[in-house]
Amino acid sequence: MNTHNHNFSEFVVDLPREVDREVAGDIEKESVFVSPFIERIHVSQDGRSARVVVRPGADLEETREKTNRFLGVMVRQITGFEIKVFVDTKRKDTGPYYAGVNDELVKRGWMHDYGKGQVAYSGPVLKLAKLINDKSGELYSSAFAAKEAHFPAMIDADTLHKCGYFDSHPNAVTFVGNVIEDFDAIEEFRRANSCSEGALMPQQDHIHIDGMCLNPAACFPCYPTLAGQSFDEGQCYTWLGRVFRYESRNINGLDRLYEFNVRELVFVGDEDFVRSVRAKALPVVEQLASFFDIDCQVQTATDPFFATVSAAKKFWQASQEVKNEIKIPALGNDGSVKQRACGSINLHGNFFGKRFGFTCKNGEPAQTGCVGLGIERWVLAAFTQHGFDEMRWPEAVRNVIFT
Ligand code: AMP
Ligand code: ZN
Repeated sequence: MNTHNHNFSEFVVDLPREVDREVAGDIEKESVFVSPFIERIHVSQDGRSARVVVRPGADLEETREKTNRFLGVMVRQITGFEIKVFVDTKRKDTGPYYAGVNDELVKRGWMHDYGKGQVAYSGPVLKLAKLINDKSGELYSSAFAAKEAHFPAMIDADTLHKCGYFDSHPNAVTFVGNVIEDFDAIEEFRRANSCSEGALMPQQDHIHIDGMCLNPAACFPCYPTLAGQSFDEGQCYTWLGRVFRYESRNINGLDRLYEFNVRELVFVGDEDFVRSVRAKALPVVEQLASFFDIDCQVQTATDPFFATVSAAKKFWQASQEVKNEIKIPALGNDGSVKQRACGSINLHGNFFGKRFGFTCKNGEPAQTGCVGLGIERWVLAAFTQHGFDEMRWPEAVRNVIFT
């Protein structure tokens, strides 16, 4: 992305209050959703001002006003909650972390990057992705007697709405559009494309969006299937889910994709059951990290909510300690070590039980929780930590992925 292009302009604004690196990171990441004319917002090292990179054609007055409103809500975040670490594994491999994994995978022909947050992979990358998925699936089945399941990649808007997704991550939703059922509109679309060089989209009023979306969180499609059931005994389900999140200009190799895969575990039951599964998930993550011989931590965390609700929702998550993240160190673009979220362990209370109508003992709404492992991020983490010298990989992994 060329922000030095002479067509871009910039302005600097003072932040309403000084922010730490955590809030600065959130501001920078969320800044792609502020205005179609804002390329990105960079927070200064001292956390006191922000540099706004503006695209050509912007109404500067309006852009400034939007920027100020965005910054006004983002600086309200309360940070500094104590981060509790529950798992801390250390790898045996003593080699250095490898920085240019994405480029090297493409160069070797093991990965194809379509450039819009989607990747194809084959060879060792595919074998590793499969191994991560299979190994975690096996661990879940032996630790929790989890039942294997399968769900569609599309989800209807009513289900997403019930899951509260529009209220927390409205920026990340992808709607599926279709050409209206109209002979002339369909013919117009066909004709336009039969002689065009590139694809031409139907005109706006010839597309209808009827409420089908691409699923943005692995566990959602599971809840409608639980409706009406009672879980006197706790139950766990596991599957490989395909997940879509519109990340706009934040997409970046295997690290931040539009379309990715998640090995999901959902647990349903009473409070004691879901808490015991969450506790038992920690040694399972430890086993997985040891199997791939990677440095890995599980620690308390919060979600990247949309700006307007971020402060309140993050505060609630952090204070209730309902989200833990599996953090695996990696190298940032500047060579510094950064913690990459490779999975999360979540407690939902009885939110889904109430919304979708499934119960536990005494007919109370059941509680749920989930563990989601981002397969592509685990792939990236493993290549980052072992590099491309096969002998540095643990034998059990090497024998599967490099043969
Ligand atoms: P979440 O439900 O937000 O905790 O996401 C579950 C896991 O999915 C995260 O811990 C990441 O490992 C992975 N993930 C989330 N967003 C992306 C993305 N844009 N690209 C690749 N992996 C992702
Ligand atoms: Zn989930």
